[in-house]
Amino acid sequence: MPEHQTPLIATIAAGLMLAFIFGLIAQRLRVQPLVGYLLAGVMVGPYTPGFTADPGLAAELAEIGVILLMFGVGLHFSMKDLLSVARIAVPGAIGQIAVATLMGAGLSWALGWSAQAGFVFGLTLSVASTVVLIRALQDRHIIDTNRGRIAVGWLVVEDLAMVLALVLLPAVAVVTAGDGNVPASRIAFSLLVTLAKVSIFVAVMLVVGRRVIPWLMHHTAHTGSRELFRLAVYAIALGVAYGAAKLFGVSFALGAFFAGMVLGESDLSQQAAEEAIPLRDAFAVLFFVSVGMLLDPKVFVEAPFAVLATVAIILVGKSAAAYLIVRAFRYPIATALTVSASLAQIGEFSFILIGHGIELKMVPKEARDLVLAGAIVSIMLNPLVFTLLERWGRDKQAATAVPATSNTPAAPAAAEPEEELPTPTSLTGHDVVVGYGRVGSLVGAGLARDAAKFLVIEAGESAIAKARGDGAEICRGNAADPAVIAAANLAAARRLFVTIPEPFEAGQVIQQARLVNPSLDILARAHSDAAVEHLDRLGANLVVLGETEIAHRMLERPRPAETASAGLAAEGPAAGGPAGVAA
Ligand code: AMP
Repeated sequence: MPEHQTPLIATIAAGLMLAFIFGLIAQRLRVQPLVGYLLAGVMVGPYTPGFTADPGLAAELAEIGVILLMFGVGLHFSMKDLLSVARIAVPGAIGQIAVATLMGAGLSWALGWSAQAGFVFGLTLSVASTVVLIRALQDRHIIDTNRGRIAVGWLVVEDLAMVLALVLLPAVAVVTAGDGNVPASRIAFSLLVTLAKVSIFVAVMLVVGRRVIPWLMHHTAHTGSRELFRLAVYAIALGVAYGAAKLFGVSFALGAFFAGMVLGESDLSQQAAEEAIPLRDAFAVLFFVSVGMLLDPKVFVEAPFAVLATVAIILVGKSAAAYLIVRAFRYPIATALTVSASLAQIGEFSFILIGHGIELKMVPKEARDLVLAGAIVSIMLNPLVFTLLERWGRDKQAATAVPATSNTPAAPAAAEPEEELPTPTSLTGHDVVVGYGRVGSLVGAGLARDAAKFLVIEAGESAIAKARGDGAEICRGNAADPAVIAAANLAAARRLFVTIPEPFEAGQVIQQARLVNPSLDILARAHSDAAVEHLDRLGANLVVLGETEIAHRMLERPRPAETASAGLAAEGPAAGGPAGVAA
């Protein structure tokens, strides 16, 4: 079948294939895979020779990634969380949008564009991309932390601001074009209608959705069909997002976020989140491909200084503004740095805004090229910005360590646990448990029974609470992060239990541990032969393959005939029956 008859399949196939190849190459070169995805997009885009995918379709596919990402984030959020971060997120996001818009307008003025062009262009630079932000937080395991929540809350406010901006744009265009005097009342009216629609949507979700969605999920779970459960997750995420956009004029992302949030209060949320992951990841990759496709590399040659200035506003201007605002609210440095780093990029909202601006003849066409170049460069550099800011924060903290702890000024309005970088432990001869989920918590319970001193490295809040309850010392954060590893004092530790399921991260932990302590006894968890080999090679002393252990346990049990001859009375139904095995 010729390719033009199946543009959707061609776009997905070419997008995924090239993203895979370039992602792999990027990984090899020790660059973030997303750089590879962006390049893959440039390759299938209209500005490079060869196959050209459909940019419209690619953008829509990316939108599915946004929906599933925001749905997943919503699952981890409650209304309470949202309200608790609102105090900083609302003024923060508004302040930052104002500052970034002013800077963008300044650049626009320097380029000789009109005032309204400056307004639109500045606005496009002020909003961050959902996909980039959420992935950055997830990669670092900080999405469930206070600073992660603030960043997400900030994003939600930006998203709302964008919904309003998109409504306002046509009104502003008419007013500034000077044709016909649009009364201010009309603008105010359309704003009010939009706000009312958003409020009605939120109310409907909180009143009706909150009851119907968890009920629907429970019902589906009880059918015992995994397929139907999965279907329910996708149907709800996409259905609510689409409905929100069509009926209430809310963005897909916000719709999906609320769908996730009302389901998040149900105990099925964990399972729902896991079901959404595979599809979410595939579509999130297509997001980067779709961004790459839009880029015309010519702009780097034709307007290098304008591109540079745009990138500087996004990377430096926005970060600095966010940092100062968060610090002004007296939040810890780590919080300020996370928020600044996660927002130092632009993406999908900016493309939509600039598209509208051009359609309404408010901005010159060159603005689009600048926005796209700014987006691609800032997305590529985002992981680097994160690393640099984190390192800077670490140095700064080390330099001010003494005064910072002794002189805690009238604890900030932010009554949150300090989330500065982990404080080094004073334990020696201790055991370290990485991850405190199903496996780690059992290891911890055993250690507690033996009265061993142990430290737990964990990223998730509920697992941390459990570990604390078991008497462990805590090192909060991503175990693969060298700063976290350093804080656990592995050089003086006795044993290291790596109980996280992800082999790449487990490998990073083991590799670093082996480097600082050649005699450390390292025990690791794995779920495949490849993972066993990988962890073995990096220096683990014992790698336990879950599946093999299950088989061993099954075979260990005496055969029924032997059980009978050994005398049923001795074992009894409670120990021998299915309940005993499951326990
Ligand atoms: P489970 O699979 O139930 O044993 O849970 C694994 C646990 O490890 C969860 O509580 C995760 O939060 C935690 N975890 C996974 N990866 C990391 C990581 N890189 N750093 C810290 N904690 C992690």
